[in-house]
Amino acid sequence: MVPRASLPPSFGLLTFQPLKRRHCAECRRGPLPLLVLGDGASRCLDCADLGHLVFLPRGDTALTRRSREESGLSAVVVRFNRRKGRYERQGVLVEEAALARAEQRCLADAEARRRRRVRDARRRAAQDELFAQAFAAEIRRLFPGCPAARARDIAAHASERGSGRVGRSAAGRALTEGAVTAAVVASVRHLDTPYDRLLMSGVPRHEARRRIAPLVRTVLRGWAEAGLGSAG
Ligand SMILES: [Zn+2]
Repeated sequence: MVPRASLPPSFGLLTFQPLKRRHCAECRRGPLPLLVLGDGASRCLDCADLGHLVFLPRGDTALTRRSREESGLSAVVVRFNRRKGRYERQGVLVEEAALARAEQRCLADAEARRRRRVRDARRRAAQDELFAQAFAAEIRRLFPGCPAARARDIAAHASERGSGRVGRSAAGRALTEGAVTAAVVASVRHLDTPYDRLLMSGVPRHEARRRIAPLVRTVLRGWAEAGLGSAG
């Protein structure tokens, strides 16, 4: 009844989900959802001394591997796929206590992964915060007249993770004068000039930038010179 030639060699102890109605050769129960082959006969799990095992369907590879590791006795459940002409793994039979221990190990792993993610996120946030502080300090060094709160806003905006903004670029991370100035210019453009309104009214970007350039220069000069004389 079982085309043995098509059995994969490495499955170990096998049980079969029969395609036809089968009864146990020993206790005559049936039809059997699962059977074990031996000595030319098919037996139910109880008669084959596997009745105490529980079925774990395929799908969770880590849980399956660990359940088999934890289980003194285990068997692979296969079913013959007629169309493909081969047996396919449906799951495993393992000891219930082994399955429970394996589930515990998988849960512990998931919890460990979750904690690591939280730690990583905290570390990244701390790095971002340090970087934003350094960025803000550099803004204030180059532009002493820039209000402190504004410098913090610019730095935070420029260094937002995943933003691809100047603060996240290599130059920004190195806090070059060019990168810091670029972030300040971008902020001034949007907040201290009619740049956004010009864009909204359909003025092309380059033309809008040309029109507001003198105003940007004035604001920047004022902020840069504030440290030398009048407060900004
Ligand atoms: Zn039986």
